[in-house]
Formats: sequence, C-alpha cells, structure tokens
Amino acid sequence: MHTPSSGTLFVISAPSGAGKTTLVRELLAREPALRLSISHTTRAPRTGEENGVHYHFTDEAEFVRLREAGGFVEWAQVHGNFYGTSRLWLAEQLDAGADIVLEIDWQGAQQVREAFGERMVGIFILPPSLEVLAARLSGRATDDAATIARRLAAARGEMRHAAQADYVILNDDLAVASAQLHAVIEAARLRTCCQRARHADYFQLFEKD
Ligand code: ADP
Ligand code: 5GP
Repeated sequence: MHTPSSGTLFVISAPSGAGKTTLVRELLAREPALRLSISHTTRAPRTGEENGVHYHFTDEAEFVRLREAGGFVEWAQVHGNFYGTSRLWLAEQLDAGADIVLEIDWQGAQQVREAFGERMVGIFILPPSLEVLAARLSGRATDDAATIARRLAAARGEMRHAAQADYVILNDDLAVASAQLHAVIEAARLRTCCQRARHADYFQLFEKD
C-alpha cells in the first residue's frame, strides 16, 4: 500500500550522449509504474520528438512567465536553452504516492536535493570514456557538428558533478548498465524511510509503545 508520502524521486543526470535516454527507456519498460517527468524546454524539437511526449516545448516568454509564477520545482539553463520541471505535475504524482523519474542536469539535481532531501535518490550516468562519448554523440545523428562540439566541451564540467550523486553507473555494456540502474531503483525502494512510509500501519504495530 502506498501512503501519500511514500514516493521517491529518482533523479538521473548525465552528460549529453552518455545514454541516459536509452537507459531510462529500458527502465520504464521494466518498471511501468514509474512516472517519468516531462520537462519544459525552450530548445527546438529534434527530428522525431513530439510535444508533450519528449518535452513540453515552449518559447522563452512562456518559460519565463511560468518560472516567475513559481511553476517550476527546479530549472536551469543548459547548453544555452532553458529547462524546467513542473511543480504542479510533481506535486500530483507525489500526492498519489508514485515513484518518479526526473532526467535533469546537475544544477536541477541540486535544487531537487535542497527541496526533497532524502526523498531524492541521485544517479549519475557516466560514459566509459570521453572518446566513446564523442562517438555516441556523432552516431546518434540528431545534432549538427557545432551542437555536438558544444555538448562535448561541456561534458567534463558536468561529469565533475558525478560525485554529488548517490550512485554512479558507467554505461559501457548497455545490458549491464541497464541491470545496474534497475538494481539501484530496487535497493532504494527498500530503504528504511520508504518501507516505513509504504507500510506505515504495519510499522506502527511494533514501533508504538
Ligand atoms: P543521452 O540521453 O544521455 O543524451 P542517448 O540515450 O540518446 O544519450 O544515447 C546516445 C547514443 O548512444 C544513442 O545513439 C544510443 O543508442 C547510444 N548508446 C547508449 N548507450 C549505449 C551503450 N551502452 N553502448 C553503445 N551505444 C549506446
Ligand atoms: P537534451 O537537450 O539533450 O534533451 O538535454 C540537455 C540537458 O538538459 C540534459 O543534461 C538533460 O538532463 C537536461 N534537462 C532536461 N530536462 C531538464 C529539466 O527539466 N531541468 C534541468 N535542470 N535539466 C534538464
């Protein structure tokens, strides 16, 4: 049984191209009850990206309006674009006791940590090397050369923040990394704070005097 306070926020961060989207897709296939936050962004959609599915694509004026109205639980400027997580959506999911996945950068992860403390589990995905990261970014063929160069230049700075996460996964072999991500989710759910919130009535049987 879920109580309103039993949900966990799984915050997954990585430099662009490390495989975060791929790993999260596999995770959601294994764990369909996880709810994935769809961020707002001022970035233009890539080929194949749909509004409301991959992102809520907004222009800068609308993003700023939402931000000023307190509509984002966290927001950041990444690679020259704004990104933010809807406060309303998050509150609804947490009230329902859902476990939530946020795919956000380290700046956003810091803000969520400040707001949610131990309810957040931070997971950082690292590529096996900078060379492999470059190859993955080019291989994905979704960005032009200038965009790829900008993302590669930013990667080292982002990877420096891996140490702030609770868990780090090296995404070399996809099947291994995918199993590791799933194991982290399962372990995090067994933390005492989550078990106590989830099974509050049972814990009361032996915790009350
Ligand atoms: P991100 O969401 O972190 O930017 P993606 O999930 O889009 O990264 O992955 C970048 C590219 O690398 C994609 O083409 C993806 O198929 C590929 N990729 C991801 N993980 C692996 C892996 N373990 N081995 C080989 N290729 C991978
Ligand atoms: P992309 O443009 O490749 O989809 O994402 C670029 C970066 O923005 C990634 O590091 C991604 O995690 C981050 N990002 C996506 N959504 C959000 C968000 O809502 N908040 C923050 N802080 N970062 C985000």
